[in-house]
Amino acid sequence: MTDGPERLARLLAGAEHAVVLTGAGISTESGIPDFRSAGGVWEEFDPMEVASMPTFLTDPTRFWRFHRPRIDMLSGVAPNAGHEVVAEFERRGVVKAVVTQNIDRLHAKAGSRELIEVHGSLERGVCLRCDARVSGDELTARADAADDGVPRCSACGFQLKSGVVLFGEPLPADAIEAAYAHAERADVMLVVGSSLLVAPVSQLPGIVVGNGGALAILTESETPYDAQATLRMHGRAGEELTRTLRALDALAGGA
Ligand code: NAD
Repeated sequence: MTDGPERLARLLAGAEHAVVLTGAGISTESGIPDFRSAGGVWEEFDPMEVASMPTFLTDPTRFWRFHRPRIDMLSGVAPNAGHEVVAEFERRGVVKAVVTQNIDRLHAKAGSRELIEVHGSLERGVCLRCDARVSGDELTARADAADDGVPRCSACGFQLKSGVVLFGEPLPADAIEAAYAHAERADVMLVVGSSLLVAPVSQLPGIVVGNGGALAILTESETPYDAQATLRMHGRAGEELTRTLRALDALAGGA
């Protein structure tokens, strides 16, 4: 059987502990540019500079000038067929967890429950000095009320950061531990829309393959794991996952 939705459906249906690993490519069909495709975020900004810990600490006004419109842009975006199908896989028990590098909350909006956001999310604001937390709404309200656009902690006055992990900042320990634990258990890992170039998430497929599990990759561009993949699809995530769900239906119906 050639690599395609039917083969992917069979792989998932036969798995004990299938895990989906997603990157920015699953959200491009919702209108959010990824980092590395043509027209991606990196053509306009250098996120390693503007979304970095040094910029946040030394020039919070510049940091929030970039960050504040991104929050509005991302909060108005809806999940696409790819996110919906991934959530449906989990509802059916075909997939046990979703590990994502995305910070856009689209998996949560689509209904994914065992969701591990290794790069954090926009959902809340945090104070790095006194560890206070505020809701996402409170964070944006404070940014909008400030003359310089910088939201500040009401307890200690330090500039607030959103829950998104910045370049130069460690990943949330609980999320990365959970991601590794699922990778250790996984007999199938389905990668959707990730170049698999950003560590440490880029190490997870290697754990699965090292333990004898199967790796399925649905991503338009090449990845460093292509040669080790049991199944490799290059199509659009939303379309191919929708076909895979139909193929699962056909399997369940005995077709
Ligand atoms: P990436 O930009 O490195 O790779 C995205 C991959 O998806 C590319 O290989 C591209 O060919 C592929 N792709 C694009 N559209 C696709 C589609 N419709 N169907 C299938 N494949 C498609 O992204 P990454 O691996 O996630 O790593 C970059 C970093 O960017 C991550 O740390 C992530 O946190 C961050 N990021 C997140 C968002 C978001 O939250 N939506 C957006 C941009 C960047």
